[in-house]
Amino acid sequence: DDAGHVKVVVRVREFVERERVKGTPCIIRMNPATQATTILAPITDFDSNPSRPNNTRRAFEDKEFTFDKSFWSHDKADPHYAHQEDVYRSFGEEFLDHNFDGYHTCIFAYGQTGSGKSYTMMGTESQPGLIPRTCEELFDRIQQDPSPNTNYHVHVSYFEVYNEHVRDLLAPRTAPPMYLKIRESQSDGVYVQGLNEVEVKNFSDVRHLMDMGDSTRTTAATKMNDTSSRSHAVFTIQLKQIQHSLLSDETIERCARMRLVDLAGSERAKSTEATGQRLKEGGQINKSLTTLGRVIAALADRAAAKRGRRPKEVVPFRDSVLTWLLKDSLGGNSKTAMVACISPCDYDETLSTLRYADQAKRIRTRASVNQDCLS
Ligand code: ADP
Ligand code: MG
Repeated sequence: DDAGHVKVVVRVREFVERERVKGTPCIIRMNPATQATTILAPITDFDSNPSRPNNTRRAFEDKEFTFDKSFWSHDKADPHYAHQEDVYRSFGEEFLDHNFDGYHTCIFAYGQTGSGKSYTMMGTESQPGLIPRTCEELFDRIQQDPSPNTNYHVHVSYFEVYNEHVRDLLAPRTAPPMYLKIRESQSDGVYVQGLNEVEVKNFSDVRHLMDMGDSTRTTAATKMNDTSSRSHAVFTIQLKQIQHSLLSDETIERCARMRLVDLAGSERAKSTEATGQRLKEGGQINKSLTTLGRVIAALADRAAAKRGRRPKEVVPFRDSVLTWLLKDSLGGNSKTAMVACISPCDYDETLSTLRYADQAKRIRTRASVNQDCLS
């Protein structure tokens, strides 16, 4: 077993046009030497106390958080600017190493709508994110493997959790929509019943499936971000390596699963002034996200309890679809990372994301190599 903790990184994006036009100040500072992220407290209005030398003051203290990595993607002119490539190199690559070693991994992006989750996970055509980079390098490594005694099988699935329903993104849309059931078994753990798991032979096969899934993904315009998705998207890559040793005449099978999760926006429904159906969606998304918050809190607490010998709290994995599906990835047999995406403004939402991420740092995982001897 390989015990570790959830790796937590934070990434701040550039101003979007709307913020640039308004002349919004950037309230985030990152220290490249310590990987600390600081959020500056808002300046309150004019302070009428004439005895103060300065007539502006901050409402609260600035708050500093330390993460495994703080990615400064706010302005390209800065020498510490983190490109898509830098984000991939700093831990995406390492996670792929773990998969080849037979470990399950999970990377999930958390943050309010418009904070850069999809940009970080999927990216754009010219600026590909973690998912396409990981897939491309996976096939590069397979093609460069000089060993004739290893066979590789790669399968991809892509589903979304929307209104507490699971929908296959690699299946054609039907009316009424087809919802898949979640099952749990001793041998397979938690899985989605009837989900398409498509075998892929090269990167262009994957590219095709990513595009297909993305066009199927539910999107609804909200006031905050026109193309924002209101669903959680889970992209999974299964890597099976079958290795035959001529020397010992043994066949060993290693099966690793990589989960790449683009969560729905973490903002509360009220901030998008959502109504009607949209409000319902917001409420349901919050159900999965608030449960994720409770799960993270319970797991963090469990890590503390272990040291202090306090009684264990029950972790409410089964209270939402998302947390049930991520059960293994969060508290079990997986190496897991969280990318907390933040906007350079929005004090309340950004602080809430930083606090969430700060708590996730305390979660311990215990990954083991998934290997079977077939003969
Ligand atoms: P989310 O998925 O969290 O709702 P997006 O990934 O869609 O947010 O990002 C919102 C907008 O900001 C998009 O236009 C995206 O291209 C842009 N953006 C996000 N992160 C970055 C970044 N690191 N560099 C440049 N543009 C970014
Ligand atoms: Mg998105």
